[in-house]
Amino acid sequence: SAPLVIVGAGQAGAMAARALRELGHAGKVVLIGDEPHAPYERPPLSKAVLADEQPPDVNLLPEPFLAQSGIVLQPGRRVVRLDAARRELHLDDGAVQAYRACLLATGGDVRVLPALPPGTPGVHYLRTLDDAQRLRAALRTARSLLVTGGGFLGLEIASTARALGLDVTVMELGPALLGRAMPPEVSRWLAARARAHGVRLHLGAQPSGLVPVAGGIAATLADAGVLRADLAVVAVGQVPNVALAREAGLLIDAGNGGIRVDERCRTSAEGVYAAGDCASGRDAATGTHRRLESWQNANEQARIAAAAMLGQDAEPPPPPWFWTDQFGCNIQMLGHGAPGLAYRLRGQFPEGRDPGKAMLFGIEGGRLVHVIAINAGGDLRAFRSVLGRPLACAPEALADPGIPAKQLAR
Ligand code: FAD
Repeated sequence: SAPLVIVGAGQAGAMAARALRELGHAGKVVLIGDEPHAPYERPPLSKAVLADEQPPDVNLLPEPFLAQSGIVLQPGRRVVRLDAARRELHLDDGAVQAYRACLLATGGDVRVLPALPPGTPGVHYLRTLDDAQRLRAALRTARSLLVTGGGFLGLEIASTARALGLDVTVMELGPALLGRAMPPEVSRWLAARARAHGVRLHLGAQPSGLVPVAGGIAATLADAGVLRADLAVVAVGQVPNVALAREAGLLIDAGNGGIRVDERCRTSAEGVYAAGDCASGRDAATGTHRRLESWQNANEQARIAAAAMLGQDAEPPPPPWFWTDQFGCNIQMLGHGAPGLAYRLRGQFPEGRDPGKAMLFGIEGGRLVHVIAINAGGDLRAFRSVLGRPLACAPEALADPGIPAKQLAR
């Protein structure tokens, strides 16, 4: 019979292929990806791949594993059309691939500023390994960098560039850093920390002209005049890659632009599944749909989709978890924030300085819904099993660093 086919050989695609084998599927698995590389991990691309003398190995499916597993990896091929009724995929070289079940793991593309299309001299976007290698080389000869976008990605790149000795400016449109993901306490602390590391930070920045000029890039800011830099990185978000799904008539969520899936990663078309950054998954706790752009979500949905493709049940996913490394701190979080959520603080957030270990607990209706840990990943882990559940301890106890995390997370 026709094989199981995965479109997109990134984090979710690779992990789904691996999971199909781990779940005992012995039949043919085809993994099609349009990048020239074998599947690789993206989180190091804005961190060690840019910073380290010896960039780390980011390969997700090493050659010996591929050979032994019999997964058919087809890099450098692009799927241009999905025919869900006939269960066929059309490729850019004219070939047609039939499938028994198909997983869309197509991720997302960087959001592009129309005035600075990719390829503009001195302008970088970061999504792929090739992007990272170009940026890595450029950071080694430039003296100054202008980062547009104070989100996780922009801040990680700014942090890395400062560590490499560049003069760094970050422009963020919003009034705060990570304003939607983090409470104001963390946004303020992070802004002070970036500044303490020598980053020039412009919040609420509406650059009126971000233009290539001879030898670099220039931006005009209402409050700071004209800024010039040798290099620009634009990190203003991602657009989910859903063209195949949309053209095939699959349900797309208007709110977040992702391919709508149920808790088993099934799309609205029979035999078609979706996972990772391109999917709008159903949160079992709230019944709402969310599109998450995270390493853990890609891995979890890959595992769940693989089981569903084989007609098997899967354990529900653990609470959403995300991390970022910047300005010498490791920041991790569980769950999601919401505007106006009340937080309990454990530890200190000294202005601009490394707080050592610190945590924040977002509590809503007596339940813990969001936990943020600075340099305290081990303590955060203890709260995985209690997220979303009524708090067993007094909320004040969370703020007492004298009480071990394990004791609170019961
Ligand atoms: P991707 O990994 O993007 O893979 C999708 C693949 O599908 C791509 O290779 C794409 O080219 C291919 N494709 C698309 N369309 C087609 C088609 N029609 N035919 C064939 N192939 C196609 N997350 C964290 O939790 N923590 C971090 O610190 C972190 N850091 C990050 C740093 C960077 C620089 C980036 C870019 C991401 C980071 N992330 C981080 C996010 C995380 O890497 C993503 O959430 C994850 O890669 C999503 O996996 P995916 O498989 O859905 O998409």
